[in-house]
Amino acid sequence: MSHPEDAPSVIVVGGGVAGLNAALYTARAGFETTVVNAGESILRRNGHLENVPGFPGGVNPRTFLDLLDEQVADAGAARVTGEVTTLDELDGQFVAETDEAVYEGDYAIAATKSNPGYLDAFDLALDRQGSKTYVDVDERGRTGVDGLYVAGRLAAEPHQTTVVAGHGAKVGLTVVEDSEVPYYHDWVAPEGYFTGRGREVPPGVEEIDEAEREARERDSMERMRAAFAERHPDEPTMHPSVADDE
Ligand SMILES: Cc1cc2nc3c(=O)[nH]c(=O)nc-3n(C[C@H](O)[C@H](O)[C@H](O)COP(=O)(O)OP(=O)(O)OC[C@H]3O[C@@H](n4cnc5c(N)ncnc54)[C@H](O)[C@@H]3O)c2cc1C
Repeated sequence: MSHPEDAPSVIVVGGGVAGLNAALYTARAGFETTVVNAGESILRRNGHLENVPGFPGGVNPRTFLDLLDEQVADAGAARVTGEVTTLDELDGQFVAETDEAVYEGDYAIAATKSNPGYLDAFDLALDRQGSKTYVDVDERGRTGVDGLYVAGRLAAEPHQTTVVAGHGAKVGLTVVEDSEVPYYHDWVAPEGYFTGRGREVPPGVEEIDEAEREARERDSMERMRAAFAERHPDEPTMHPSVADDE
């Protein structure tokens, strides 16, 4: 998926469950989206993921994350590796710095689960609970700094994959709704659903004909067969204190 030259841009800091889902929605809405991720999602520690919708027997969480990453790449988002050490705002642009690169965006979404030290340039309201620090946000992930949002566990969402995925999606949609990009819903409808009633296809919505539906379904079937043909090669990541004992 390509984006128009003048598309708004968004930096997503953290490419775990919430960050990737936020990126999925901003990229699909036409935003030039860059996910900057260091390390790995805490979900890689899971033994077998049994409470995400649509997987009655559960799913290997590493397969789930790989598929999510593939989906975000297909939507047109760039995914780069790097630990963001500072996020700041200069001349109306958010600037994220890693040791090796600088990324700029009209919007920024922080989705790093914890350690919000890279956000120190902003006077954000923080909620400290024991060893954890969360960022106070409104019900749509807005921080009070125009254009800066927080998604997932870092926004004190419950420590569950489906919840932080949904929150990432919600925050991604909030960025779109707060922008100038015309938008209705991120929907794919069968041909005629709107036009058959004499209505325009709303922005963000696609109507697809029978041939296209079949092509997409067959592609999805093949990709799922390939993804689930073998067990995932990676073992769960252990808690660092367990790994240290070994
Ligand atoms: C052992 C275990 C089992 C679990 N099992 C389940 C389960 O069965 N069901 C369930 O629903 N949930 C489960 N969870 C919880 C689930 O994994 C989390 O709730 C979810 O991953 C949180 O998503 P997030 O996007 O907020 O954080 P993460 O998915 O951890 O993503 C944060 C990302 O940001 C990156 N990052 C951090 N700092 C920076 C930085 N400065 N710059 C760039 N990138 C950065 C991190 O490396 C990571 O990739 C489990 C968790 C654990 C530990």
